[in-house]
Amino acid sequence: MAVRDILIIPDKRLRLKSEPVTAIDKSLRALVDDMFETMYAAPGIGLAAIQVGVPQRVVTMDLAKKDEPKAPQVFINPEVTWKGDERSVYEEGCLSIPEYYEEVERPSAVRVKFLDLDGKAREIEATGLLATCLQHEIDHTNGVLFIDYISKLKRDMVMKKFKKAAKLGTGKPLAEDKEPSHHIG
Ligand SMILES: [Zn+2]
Repeated sequence: MAVRDILIIPDKRLRLKSEPVTAIDKSLRALVDDMFETMYAAPGIGLAAIQVGVPQRVVTMDLAKKDEPKAPQVFINPEVTWKGDERSVYEEGCLSIPEYYEEVERPSAVRVKFLDLDGKAREIEATGLLATCLQHEIDHTNGVLFIDYISKLKRDMVMKKFKKAAKLGTGKPLAEDKEPSHHIG
């Protein structure tokens, strides 16, 4: 197991559409192990494989609170099959856009189908934080970032700051002024 580097915007790989997983084998299990280690180290509550540079449709997640036991979840080839009409707003953050948070409106409830690590097909109905996190991570597998939902003015400002930071080689242009638990992944 190893902590892998997390890609930061404006890294173009974050815009790739990831490929479906075709075999749940040893190398996929190793990727999942590394993703969990990377996610817990960050810390974040969700991570998509493309965020560590692997364009495969794999998502790891753990929504347990600090004082609760770990609750790791893996979603392979996750796909939204249904969205509820009701929408809710949640302040999102992303490990690939460190220290930046904005309110994003998404469907409050979604149904998601995926494969588990045994290759078994599953479908769940998610609400609350799980629904938000699943939509955020599934977006990553399609090359979509949460800043795509905010105003162009704000998005351009964020991109400009991160482009400048990438040039300077610092990577993290924004001051840490909020709890890192806000990072969805
Ligand atoms: Zn993210």
